[in-house]
Amino acid sequence: MTDGIRDLIIIGSGPAGYTAGLYSARAMLKPLMFAGYMSGGQLMLTSDVENFPGYPSGVTGPEMMMHLREQAERFGLEVEDKNVESVDFSGRPFKVVVEGETFLSHSIVICTGAEAIWLGVEGEDAQKGRGISTCATCDGAFFKDEEVLVIGGGDSAMEEATFLTRFASKVTILHRRDTWRASKVMLDRARTHEKIEIRPFRQVVEWLSDDSGLTGAVLEDPRDGSREEISSTGAFIAIGHKPITAFLEGQVETDEEGYILHKEHSMTSVAGVFAAGDVVDTRYRQAITAAGMGCQAAMDAERWLEDNQH
Ligand SMILES: Cc1cc2nc3c(=O)[nH]c(=O)nc-3n(C[C@H](O)[C@H](O)[C@H](O)COP(=O)(O)OP(=O)(O)OC[C@H]3O[C@@H](n4cnc5c(N)ncnc54)[C@H](O)[C@@H]3O)c2cc1C
Repeated sequence: MTDGIRDLIIIGSGPAGYTAGLYSARAMLKPLMFAGYMSGGQLMLTSDVENFPGYPSGVTGPEMMMHLREQAERFGLEVEDKNVESVDFSGRPFKVVVEGETFLSHSIVICTGAEAIWLGVEGEDAQKGRGISTCATCDGAFFKDEEVLVIGGGDSAMEEATFLTRFASKVTILHRRDTWRASKVMLDRARTHEKIEIRPFRQVVEWLSDDSGLTGAVLEDPRDGSREEISSTGAFIAIGHKPITAFLEGQVETDEEGYILHKEHSMTSVAGVFAAGDVVDTRYRQAITAAGMGCQAAMDAERWLEDNQH
């Protein structure tokens, strides 16, 4: 840090942020992280993570995030559990505003992630991360030989449903219309799969559960309001994700959904501002891919600082 100007500020504390923190701290950049009020990110919501390398018996999400934080802090990552309110990347040093205070930095790594869009119906909050998931790759294996539901009508829903047939005995896709955003090839693959049933004009209006977890859902036909119950021990909501970029207010280029665009390796449209993890990733959305991108962003920031003599 020179004249109160940091070399690197990291925004966000999921796997991408902590990995960027670890690499940049080890590179002696003395990074400062604003972890957000929900420090630890999306994995704080999940009990079992079985696909992050290095944990042969699995690990809980919160425990893993604590390990990532401890490891980065050991090398000097400074963490503040606060939200960034706004940024100004129009000139250097960059400005980051947190609780009314302005912090200056020569470079920035944005790792603010994305959030899955939930249905928001009765009974959902209690079953999130238990019977109801937004990630088949993450949680599909917990539903071996069970009947599960997939909600959505796009490619993600078809992909999740097809993937789930590896574990589940039956997969029912529920969609509120009979028109599909999914590509024909993905829809056909789901339609012809022996384990998949597709039910259009069915929207979930309530989740049902007992002490053991999810037991099913109340479905409504939007055409006439008629209702029925369906039994299920697992449900996967695949109606989209929303990147957390509203606080950037157009300071870096994004796609129409708000995902930050990479321009050169992990650098954004603003030289010196980098982005990593789910906030740029419309495809993989995994802890390990976010961590990998966090590493790339830290290395790119380090090289950029060197080339720009900071
Ligand atoms: C229920 C659930 C289970 C999952 N299970 C698995 C699994 O088993 N395996 C797997 O690989 N993946 C799993 N995932 C996906 C995985 O969690 C994500 O891919 C990963 O967390 C993305 O990491 P990230 O660092 O990009 O962002 P996130 O983990 O989303 O972290 C973003 C961070 O940014 C912070 N932030 C946001 N806005 C601001 C702001 N304005 N200022 C400061 N900070 C801010 C947030 O507080 C948060 O700390 C799961 C996801 C969910 C929701």
